[in-house]
Amino acid sequence: MTQVIWQCPACRFRFPGGDDDARAYICPSCKIGKTIIVRELTPQTNPTNINYPAKRNVIAVLDNIRSVQNVGGIFRSADGAGITHLHLCGITATPKHPKMAKVALGSEQSVAWSYHPNALDLVRELKAEGSAIWALEGGERAQNLTQSVCDAETIALVVGNEVTGVDLDILEIAERVVALPMRGVKESLNVATAFSIAAYYLSG
Ligand SMILES: [Zn+2]
Repeated sequence: MTQVIWQCPACRFRFPGGDDDARAYICPSCKIGKTIIVRELTPQTNPTNINYPAKRNVIAVLDNIRSVQNVGGIFRSADGAGITHLHLCGITATPKHPKMAKVALGSEQSVAWSYHPNALDLVRELKAEGSAIWALEGGERAQNLTQSVCDAETIALVVGNEVTGVDLDILEIAERVVALPMRGVKESLNVATAFSIAAYYLSG
């Protein structure tokens, strides 16, 4: 099967799919036209995967992330950004979860990870070992991540539960609380989305 672009001659609805895609016969939009292949797609290698080494060592602590989809998305972003280790804590699903491979698409194999039942104990250890603890969370202490100077050799980025956020006891021992500016009506981003932006910002 080859990947192609299908297009409806009647309404010009245009979409990608396989050349044996069943949607192809009748236009899924106008239901009148009979879609045709207008372009074959050739697989391309991604040129951005070379020559951009991470500027610093960034590890992450995922504390009680409820959704497997979010953990899988975080694995993909961690792989892309060059995060060196994911600490999975509490109820956070690990790559052993049956749904993880489908969401993480192989990145769960490439990023080093470990499981810890208690994120607070872990963060205390990481801090004692010299990591700077940066919690990704809103609130009074939060400073704009994109205006934060990264002066530590190893940063441990902590993200917390989708509903309750980063554990208050972890916030208390974090060197910094950083957040992304929210310019619309919502108070926060999806945790995997926020993690992705922060991971790239910190890794450089
Ligand atoms: Zn159409």
